[in-house]
This record gives sequence, structure tokens and C-alpha cells, in this order.
Amino acid sequence: MLRTASCSASLTSASPFFRHFPLSYSSLSSSTGALRAPGRNLRRVASPSSTGRRVFLRRGLRVPSTAVRGVNRQLSRLSVRAVATQPAPSYPDVGQDEAEKLGFEKVSEEFISECKSKATLFKHKKTGCEVMSVSNEDENKVFGIVLRTPPKDSTGIPHILEHSVLCGSRKYPLKEPFVELLKGSLHTFLNAFTYPDRTCYPVASTNTKDFYNLVDVYLDAVFFPKCVDDVHTFQQEGWHYELNDPSEDISYKGVVFNEMKGVYSQPDNILGRIAQQANNTYGVDSGGDPKDIPNLTFEEFKDFHRKYYHPSNARIWFYGDDDPLQRLRILSEYLDMFEASPSRDTSKIEPQRLFSEPIRIVEKYPAARDGDLKKKNMVCINWLLSEKPLDLETQLALGFLDHLMLGTPASPLRKILLESGLGEALVSSGMSDELLQPQFSVGMKGVSEDNVQKVEELIMSTLKKLAEEGFESDAVEASMNTIEFSLRENNTGSFPRGLSLMLQSIAKWIYDMDPFEPLKYTEPLKALKARIAEEGSKAVFSPLIEQFILNNSHRVTIEMQPDPEKASQEEAEEKSILEKVKAGMTEEDLAELARATEELRLKQETPDPPEALRCVPSLNLSDIPKEPSYVPTEVGDINGVKVLRHDLFTNDIVYAEVVFDMGSLKHELLPLVPLFCQSLLEMGTKDLSFVQLNQLIGRKTGGISVYPLTSSVRGKDEPCSKIIVRGKSMAGRADDLFNLMNCLLQEVQFTDQQRFKQFVSQSIARMENRLRGSGHGVAAARMDAMLNIAGWMSEQMGGLSYLEFLRTLEKKVDEDWEGISSSLEEIRRSLLAKNGCIVNMTADGKSLTNIEKSLEKFLDLLPENPSGGLVTWDGRLPLRNEAIVIPTQVNYVGKAGNIYSTGYELDGSAYVISKHISNTWLWDRVRVSGGAYGGFCDFDSHSGVFSFLSYRDPNLLKTLDIYDGTGDFLRGLDVDQETLTKAIIGTIGDVDSYQLPDAKGYSSLMRHLLGVTDEERLRKREEILTTSLKDFKDFAEAIDVVRDNGVAVAVASAEDIDAANNARSNFFEVKKAL
Ligand SMILES: [Zn+2]
Repeated sequence: MLRTASCSASLTSASPFFRHFPLSYSSLSSSTGALRAPGRNLRRVASPSSTGRRVFLRRGLRVPSTAVRGVNRQLSRLSVRAVATQPAPSYPDVGQDEAEKLGFEKVSEEFISECKSKATLFKHKKTGCEVMSVSNEDENKVFGIVLRTPPKDSTGIPHILEHSVLCGSRKYPLKEPFVELLKGSLHTFLNAFTYPDRTCYPVASTNTKDFYNLVDVYLDAVFFPKCVDDVHTFQQEGWHYELNDPSEDISYKGVVFNEMKGVYSQPDNILGRIAQQANNTYGVDSGGDPKDIPNLTFEEFKDFHRKYYHPSNARIWFYGDDDPLQRLRILSEYLDMFEASPSRDTSKIEPQRLFSEPIRIVEKYPAARDGDLKKKNMVCINWLLSEKPLDLETQLALGFLDHLMLGTPASPLRKILLESGLGEALVSSGMSDELLQPQFSVGMKGVSEDNVQKVEELIMSTLKKLAEEGFESDAVEASMNTIEFSLRENNTGSFPRGLSLMLQSIAKWIYDMDPFEPLKYTEPLKALKARIAEEGSKAVFSPLIEQFILNNSHRVTIEMQPDPEKASQEEAEEKSILEKVKAGMTEEDLAELARATEELRLKQETPDPPEALRCVPSLNLSDIPKEPSYVPTEVGDINGVKVLRHDLFTNDIVYAEVVFDMGSLKHELLPLVPLFCQSLLEMGTKDLSFVQLNQLIGRKTGGISVYPLTSSVRGKDEPCSKIIVRGKSMAGRADDLFNLMNCLLQEVQFTDQQRFKQFVSQSIARMENRLRGSGHGVAAARMDAMLNIAGWMSEQMGGLSYLEFLRTLEKKVDEDWEGISSSLEEIRRSLLAKNGCIVNMTADGKSLTNIEKSLEKFLDLLPENPSGGLVTWDGRLPLRNEAIVIPTQVNYVGKAGNIYSTGYELDGSAYVISKHISNTWLWDRVRVSGGAYGGFCDFDSHSGVFSFLSYRDPNLLKTLDIYDGTGDFLRGLDVDQETLTKAIIGTIGDVDSYQLPDAKGYSSLMRHLLGVTDEERLRKREEILTTSLKDFKDFAEAIDVVRDNGVAVAVASAEDIDAANNARSNFFEVKKAL
């Protein structure tokens, strides 16, 4: 398992699009991590929440960064390369006649130079369904269908429907075609999202045949789902009463119900929800409030589908290098089956009138009993900016303003709030423009009661000051460069570019505005730049602050107070409702409910018949390339330092990683490493304040980040433990990039006690948020720390141990700052050296040659050897079952063991098998019948650790029993060749995941560090492709070690842990965390 502990520092200007999120990092590696990009391991998983503008995902663990948050979108809408001067290349065209024949009319057509695409808007004549057909050279093809689905209440209809339509349809009458696609397709993206006012169903693939298979399953699901005739799906995904035996208590079950309980256990989410004080559809929760979900009836559910899931209310997006005519052929087959409906009018979103007076709301959120509750208040001010949608230039200017105020640690509003010491961290703050009316929020958490008012005053006075004084010209230049760099780079990470564009376009199109406009930023950006150049930045930004914020009376201030009673009160309320329900039932009713519960369970646990499974289209093994994709890599040497070069087309950008070894670091310094990394980026040097340094990075580069990375190495005792300095710049500025890296590494002074103290409190707030929102990651890290050294190191830098360390450190900063400061120096001396350093560079050949001199100079400045001798890492946490108590309504349950300890030797089939376990056994038992939002397993081929994990899980011991049954499940398994082929293809899909050039170079570095050769990748691929049923049976023996000798860790509520310890005499050691 590869881990990168991280710190907010690693986000400094490197990824401005992410900055609004309370970030957690996926500590989970994919089982195929060794073979392909470690991208997934490294990807920071953003929480799908922000100021009330939640997007609910069908699979909770993958979040599209650009989809979620306004200003990200505002900036990312820019993230397309400008090539205005280039002539339009010719792409296959659909003639008016051809379109007519298929029932479409061509509405308009444009070449969009920003994304080098030809885009055509069609209208289906009979139904009015609109289709954007975007043609270009991108092989990562994207399809999406988007429906306007404004809810009237908080029963969660749109969200439950989003889950349910993918549970079988007319042409694909099986339990979950979605899961079959997860198992057996080459998709590069497969998910569904619910927004406050719309529902999106996007898929992507680089393989054309696979792509059209995905499209067909999605179209059939959306228009002809089984769920409208089958109350069981509604019960399973939405809610139902569960009663196993008439003598027991009735409980609520349902995937969305539990997903939302998890959402409502996080104070940041509650705050965001309350901030939506609106009398239109935004005033209710499209995701569903667990208190309201049980009011939803099947009739209302069906009715919602009938009303809104209609071509007249749909917008469809196609993107990529496939044949545009074929797209229309596929669509006409579906759309022609419908007549026009009035849904397009009935789904219209009414804007909200702006308030004439500001309002203030005080609410409680569930908190733990002990701890310093006085310091746990939250306060946030929200503005609805306008009654009407804004024009693109104003929107762009507001996005720019947002970046200036909050975008980096040096941005004044962010900096002043954090430096005030009035709170621990910002709550999700910034502009948001993905809904009909744009909004701006800013606030803090970890605020003491007496300081709430002071935070409000400080926000207002800072905004006033910014309006009066304007911004430093270096800051404006830095923001401009950051924005322009990201436009040129257009780096959407593992998120398909075509989907990012779709989400930008749909943000206007969904409100019946021009779908082309959001894709064309060149002119408005040019105009904005010209205005700044002519009139000065103050003339541009000050009026915006005044008009939209300071003089805007639509201001909603939310104060949230911790309430230690709230969680148990809510639980008691739910219990009493359920008791009443039971009391109102006759004996016959109860017997009937128990029968219905059993019937649903049986149905859920009965596998689909093979003929039903066969109807889901899939590829053949012959469609799969026999060889893995190789990344060009040349290993050289500069002044004794190993240099890896990857000659790839990167649009004139240089990506560089400098890797230092942690082999000389003293053990006790390990937990300080993340703060050391943050300090490098945010403390400043003798000559440059941190603000100046930060602006320099923004002006000259595309960003620099610093973070630790640890992993086991297969067959070795010593883990791989590194610090990575990662940066990017235009090729012509590589010299600046290396100079700045050198400046950060060698000249930054660890002298700013106050800033360091802020880092500590922000880290605490972030870790606490992570416990509530990504408890499965915390549990996984904990188990890993018991099972191997690399896991232990990582947990010290990012797990519960780290949180404990931070809490002690917070006091120490006042008592012994000198000691801490010299420890930071010591870390620097023990890392920084030519000896043990590796450099990785990705760019085109010419740039690689040109930057050599700059790199040489950089390396010459490094000391020869680290100070201090080599240390041996051997730490582990004691092996024991642990329960970590947090105030929550749902749990995270894990169990893990090392399968190499049984003598099992890694075979490629292990990837196929663990994927199959996740997608069948765990999906069916933990999610579908257990009611958890997620259940999956993870196999770390480097360490041998096999882990089971659940996410937002109403159960605890029951889930552990399911994990323990995995060996028997494999032994009893009977898979036919088709199922096996699907599992193999799905695994190859993971291994071959689509990568942009920087990710290719980075993956190659990871493989180099972990000793994974191309020969091994080829061998593993062959093993994957030839996986047999016998491999599954053999694996059962290995996996039994988790049942027999594994450790269990749960992050759960006190009540559930008590119950578990009563039922199984003190099974868990209990640890309090929040
Ligand atoms: Zn969901």
C-alpha cells in the first residue's frame, strides 16, 4: 500500500482547484496498484460536501473534483488550452439530412478552439431532447445524460432514484447492471451524481465498443428502469422497516438512508445544509434528511420518475473521437419511443428573491461528551450573490477574486482568519456558481464561544479592507499565472477531460442557457486581463466585493454549537418512532413484516441467473491488449544522482519530482514530518516572507508540493520511505522551478512559532474531520500499522497516532518552541543529501535536454551525505482488535491480515479475485443486504496485507462475520467462463487506467522505487489473463488468515461498540478519539 501522508502544504498553488475541500487522502491502494498508475493511491479524495451544495455519488469513494464546487468550476471552466490561432481541424461531420433522417435537427455548430473540438447542438424533433455532440481527438470518450430533478421536500427522492435506476432495466433485467459494468468493462469513469437540482449519469471509456456498451446500459436504465415496478429496489436503496423476528425491535434499513446518516454525522455537512435558507428547491435536501426519508412513499417515488426522467427533460452529452453519426443512431432508437412531455417546463428552477435583511441562525450539532466543547463552535457567513445568473466575464472575475482572497495560504482573507487564532481552521469557504444563483461563503470552525462574534467581525472588516485597499500586484500576478497555467495544463487528473467539460457546460445549459458559452473562456479572460492592465486590479475587484458581498443584504450567518446530547437524542427519537410503529401493528402485521424482511433478504442474496447476466454486453478477451503500456524511461546519472527521464508530450510543461530518503531520520522525529513539509512551503526565508515566497511560486511555476511517501517493498524487510518534492513549470521556467525548490529546501527558516501553531491546529481539525468522514481510511491505516512497518510509519504521519501526537504537540509549541524548531532543522539535515536522492522528470525530449543545466545546478547545491547514520525502522502497533469511538450514526468496520504469512506467493490472479470479492460477496452482503453505503476489500501486493472495509455501515459484528465468511464463499464459488472473463476484463481496466502524461511519468517513478519491473508487469498481466476457477479456490486458503489471525478495527459509535463488547466478551479494546 502506497501512502502519502499529506498536509495542506502540498496543496499550495499546486492544485488550486481543490483548495476548498476538507481534504482527506485515500490511504487505500487499489489491488492493482503495483501494476499501474499509483494514481488512485495518491489521489486526494475530496469530501463530496461543501456549503450545502452536495453532490451525491453512487459510489461514495470517487469524487469528481470539478463537479463539486463552484469556484473550482469557475476556474476549471478555464482549464482548457487556448489555441485560438490554430485553424480548425476537420472532424467527421453529420449532415443536416442525415440528422433529419434520424429525427434530429441541427440547432447550432461551433469550433471551440479552447478544447480543439467541434461541438454541435442537436434537438430531437419529437421530444425536444437536446444533444451536445463534441468531436475531437481525445480517445477518452465520454457520454452523459443529465435530467433536471428539483425536489420539493427532503425525502431524498432524486438521490434514491439515482441509486435505483441502475438496479435493472427493460433490456438488462438483472439486479444491478451497474455492478456488472463495474466488474467487466474497461470504463475510465462510471458513476452517477445527484445535485441539488439535477441528476447526472456519466460514463467514459477509451475502447469504442466498450463505450457504446456502457452508453446503452445507461440509456436503458434511465428511461426504462425496473425500479418503478419493483418496490424491493425502493426498499433496498431508499428505506424500509426491517424486522427479523416479531420479538425483536424494528429498525430502518436502506443504502441511501445510511449514506445520509453518515452525511448528517459530519458538522461541516450540517452547516452547509442549514446555510441553504431558500424558499425554492435549494431549501430542501435532494440527498435526503434521514429524518424525512421514511416519509417517502413508493407512489411518490414512481411519480417523480414518470415526471422528470423523460427525453423532453434530458440533456445528453457525447464527447471524443468516435463517429458522431453513430451517436445519433443510438439515441434515436431510445428517444423515438417517447412523445413530447411538459416536463421541461415543470422542472424549471425558480430563482430565489434576495433577502432585504440579513439573517442569523443558531443550530446544534452532535459532538462527543468530553473534550473541550467550549472551543468547538463553528461560524460561517453566506451570501447569495445575485437574483439573475451572471455573465461569463463577471463570473470569471469573481472566480479570480475568490482565488485572490482565499486561494493560497498567502491569500489575505485566509491568512488573516487563520493567523487571528480565533479558530482552528476554515470551514468550506469560497465562491460557488454551479447552481442557478452564485453564492459566497466564508467561516471558521474550532471557535470558542466568546470568539464567534469576533470571527464575524473579522470577516467583515477584512472584506471591507480588501475593498478599500485592493490587492498587491504580486498577488494578482501570481493568481493570474496560476489560472493561466492550469488552463494550459488542462490537467483533470484521473477525471476524464470530456466529463470536466460536460459539467462546465451543463452548469448553464441546465438552466436553458447557451451550452457553448462556458467552454469559451479566451475572450472574456483576455478582456478581464486587459481591464486589469488598464484600470488596475483595484478598479476591477473592489466594486465586486462591494456590490456582491458588502452591500448585499442577502447574508445568512450560521452559528453551530456542539451538543453532546444530540447524537443520543436523535437515536432515542428514532427508536421511539420505531417503537410506536411496532406498537401500532397487530401480530399478523408483525409476522407479515418479518416475512417481507426475509423475502427481501432472500431476493438480495439470490444471484442473477446466468441468462440475465449474459444480456449485459461485455468485451472478449481478444479485445484486450496482451501487453501493458510502457512508459518511456531513460535512467541516467547527474553528479552521482540517479535521474529518470520520461520523454512524453506535455504541452511544453516540465514535471519534476525530487525524492529524498528517510533512512537517516530519527524515529521520534517521524510524526513531525508532515508539519516539516508544510513549514517548507509556508514559513519563508531570511529574505522572503512566506507570502512573498508563495507569490513567487505562483508567479513562476505551476506549483510545488512536498509530502512523505511510504510503502512496503515486496520481499524486503525495509520499507520504502521517502520525501517527495514535486513541481511543475513551463519548460522555459525550469530554472525558476529548481531555484525555488532549492530555496524551499535549504533556505526556509523554522522560526515562525505562531504559524507553526496554526499548522498544528489546522492539522488537528483536518484529522478530526477525517475520522468522521473517512473513518474507513483511519481504520485501514490502524490495521496496517499493526501488520507492517511501512503502515506504522504512515500511521504515525497521518492516522490516529498522528492525531494523538498533534494534541500533545499543540501544548508543546508554547512550552518548547526552540526544541521543536531544532527538530525541524534536524529533519532537514537528515533528509537533504545527494546520497539517496533520485530525480524524476517528465517532458518532451528537447525540454528534458534543455533543463539539464538547471537540474545540475540544483543538485550541486545539495550536501553530499545526510547527517546522522542509517536507522532501522521496525515500529509496529500491538496486534489487537480496536474500536475507536466517535459521535456518529454509522460505522466504519475493518479487518485485515497478511496473506504472505501463509506462504502465499503473489500471482496476478490475486487482483482478479480481490476485485471479484469486492464486487460480489461484499457488495451483496455488506451493502445490498447489510445496508452500508460501501463494502470492499483491498489487497496490498507489496506488503501482503489483505483488508476488508466498510463505509457508513449500520452494522458492526455482523459485518465482521461477513468478512470471515469470504474463504467459504470462494470455496463454494462456481463461476462460468463468462463471469470469469468479465472479472478479468474489469481487472485489466483497472491496470490500464487512463493516464495523462504527468501521471505516466509519476507511475514509472513509483514502480522504480518499489522495484516493480516491466518484466514483472508483463508476467502479472499474463497471470491476470489466465486466471482460472482453481486460483479462486486456492486463494481461499490464503485468505482464511484474515479470519483466523487478522485484526479488526472499527470506527464506531459508543452504543454500537458497547453492544459488540457485550455480545462478544470484550472483543474490542476501546479507544476514544473525538
Ligand atoms: Zn448515494
